[in-house]
Amino acid sequence: MRLGIVSPCYNEHEVLYSSAEKLTRLLDELVAKGKIDADSFVLLVNDGSRDNTWEIICDLHRRNPYFSGINLAHNVGHQNAIMAGMMTARSLADAVITIDADLQDDLGAIEQMIDRYLEGHDIVYGVKVSRRADPFLKRTSARMFYALQSSMGLKTIPNHADFRLMSRRALDELARYGERNLYLRGIVPLLGYRTATVDDVISEREAGSSKYTLSKMLNLAVDGITSFSVRPIRLIIGAGLFFLVVSMLMTCYILYSYFVHSVVPGWTSMMLSLWFIGSIVLLAIGVIGEYIGKIYVEVKNRPRYNIESFMHHEPEKKE
Ligand code: UDP
Ligand code: MG
Repeated sequence: MRLGIVSPCYNEHEVLYSSAEKLTRLLDELVAKGKIDADSFVLLVNDGSRDNTWEIICDLHRRNPYFSGINLAHNVGHQNAIMAGMMTARSLADAVITIDADLQDDLGAIEQMIDRYLEGHDIVYGVKVSRRADPFLKRTSARMFYALQSSMGLKTIPNHADFRLMSRRALDELARYGERNLYLRGIVPLLGYRTATVDDVISEREAGSSKYTLSKMLNLAVDGITSFSVRPIRLIIGAGLFFLVVSMLMTCYILYSYFVHSVVPGWTSMMLSLWFIGSIVLLAIGVIGEYIGKIYVEVKNRPRYNIESFMHHEPEKKE
């Protein structure tokens, strides 16, 4: 099989040479073992870096036959950069593995991914088994994020972060997803092919600092939920219904106060309308939200199904 490794690079001049060396060693080893073809390659995607990342990629391409490069005209973010790489590599390789340029993921898992692929799995997820190398804040926020996601009804692989193998036909299927708010971890499980997981032991970043700023992380988190779930809208409807019940209870209390104690003129009508209108407004927003949610799903124009195989008897040709 011919393997393509896709790696997004944003201001990665500190790690790129050492990562390239490790990847070359790995590819050499896999070729020697006969697991992959010698024309397998590493596709480095420069995501509009402001340092000399692209010059380094050009240099690697000149000196090392494994290396190819894509230069994106501006910074489009990790998810889009991976997508650009995968869509370019899918016609050149039988399977594509995406891995961050800092190689914090487990290189040893790549061989296992290939084995799973050869057994007939179209998608192989690298699942982080230990995040000990990650800073405390990152670990905790990630855990909260996965919990929030599953409470919103999203089907994702917990502790999997875009270190995965995809076969060519899985990539072709992925290409049918035309959405702009990309959250690959949510889309890939929708493809429906046979999947497997391998363990991924995270190590520390060797050089440079994280390119995932807090705002990029928050954006990803918001995309991860709002692109896949209308549950936030349902919560508004739930709140509307809840307050409608509260407003009925309040009606009893307000009328009781009106008849039993003496209350300030105007208080009764004020209180009655306040609770009732409030709950109706919430309900109305929720209903409008339901329709917007429907429009959102239509606009994304996702494929309805993925035909894995098709069998049919051709009618015999009559002479
Ligand atoms: N990255 C990218 N574009 C961006 C931000 C990050 O292509 O706008 C790349 C980055 O070069 C790296 C990967 O995404 O290869 C993951 O980033 P990083 O390792 O900094 O994130 P962390 O491991 O801290 O989550
Ligand atoms: Mg990293």
